[in-house]
Amino acid sequence: YVAKEQGGTFHFFTRLLMEQNIERSNLLNALHAALERDELDVHFQPKIDFAENKIIGVEALLRWRHPEWGMIAPDKFIPIAEETGMILKLGEWVLRKAAFQHKKWADLGFPINMAVNFSMRQIQHPRIVETIQSILQETGMNPASLEIELTEHTLIHSQHVSKLEELKKLGLKLSLDDFGTGYCSLRYLKDFPIDAIKIDRSFVENMTHEPHIAALNSTIIYLAQQLNYDVIAEGVETEEQVNLLMEGGCHLMQGYYFSRPVPSEQILHLLKNGIDQEKGITK
Ligand code: C2E
Ligand code: MG
Ligand code: MG
Ligand code: MG
Repeated sequence: YVAKEQGGTFHFFTRLLMEQNIERSNLLNALHAALERDELDVHFQPKIDFAENKIIGVEALLRWRHPEWGMIAPDKFIPIAEETGMILKLGEWVLRKAAFQHKKWADLGFPINMAVNFSMRQIQHPRIVETIQSILQETGMNPASLEIELTEHTLIHSQHVSKLEELKKLGLKLSLDDFGTGYCSLRYLKDFPIDAIKIDRSFVENMTHEPHIAALNSTIIYLAQQLNYDVIAEGVETEEQVNLLMEGGCHLMQGYYFSRPVPSEQILHLLKNGIDQEKGITK
């Protein structure tokens, strides 16, 4: 009986693994084709300065619509693209797309910040500085408007400090995404040449009903202020969260409460007309 059960378990796992492998390689092949078949797109989510009543920038977020499978979430394909190295090609594509878009908005009188997510593999690449520089030149984007978002997982090696300093010399900004979910020690935090911290959505989500999370948020905000970093809260969904964040001294926010990530035309509309008069965002 035991042997039979083990056999059954074994069979179950190999089948699961095979299905996953098939799915993985299918997904990867499809992703390669996606670039050529024009299935990829970039959406943009506004970043709000609630105290100043305005949109200060946007975050570029990769979107993939497969003709049969429909929308595939970045969390599903980015890790695979990272493992296989395809993220280098994808990342370059996103940056170029975002930079061209930024230039268009800037020419229309809206020179807002453009944040782009970068993976560890991209930062590690020996020619990353040249790649970014040439995309900036090609598109005419002002480097001061570019912000690169990195996660703490990207930064665990102190060997990256000099690389980040090289990037900073291009004139762009660096921010630490999903802050509080990785392994970033305070010592590292001090050493990295970053400009902003993004408080992870999980902290914002739980702050209204868990006092110790609210205390953690206040501490992160205080820490950021002491180290002279901007601090922005991500995943803001309710008015209650907005109020608590404002009370805590965090006036930069991003989340569904203001806008979901949307296509570029909708951002232009928001830049011209404001997000929602009721929410006080007019510019
Ligand atoms: P992230 O950089 O932390 O981006 C924020 C994610 O939270 C986005 O998910 C966004 O749509 C979502 N979000 C924003 N506001 C809210 C809210 O109020 N509530 C909730 N529930 N969610 C909110 P998305 O677009 O699915 O992206 C997931 C992750 O995939 C990103 O997390 C980022 O790590 C990665 N990613 C996306 N695009 C790229 C890219 O071009 N390059 C790289 N390397 N990673 C990317
Ligand atoms: Mg991000
Ligand atoms: Mg994040
Ligand atoms: Mg994330």
